[in-house]
Amino acid sequence: MSQQATHWIEPAKCVVCDACRPVCPRNAISAHATDATYVIDPALCNNCQNVSAVRCIPQCPTNAIFPPQTA
Ligand code: SF4
Ligand code: SF4
Repeated sequence: MSQQATHWIEPAKCVVCDACRPVCPRNAISAHATDATYVIDPALCNNCQNVSAVRCIPQCPTNAIFPPQTA
């Protein structure tokens, strides 16, 4: 994994349930063009720094969403 400054979704774990998308205050989450996974747009995700807690992670039933990482 290369450097990852924003939250991100592991495609192999995402079951495309749509639970995460509506809770994102930045509208950063959407279905990938393949419809095989959801994706977080790094240009939009601000890691929920302006709200009290990260909203997307608790919604995911398969723990497919991960916080920022560095390699
Ligand atoms: S961390 Fe916050 S801003 Fe980023 S995708 Fe998740 S809900 Fe959206
Ligand atoms: S909540 Fe998790 S499994 Fe559902 S669409 Fe989002 S990332 Fe995929």
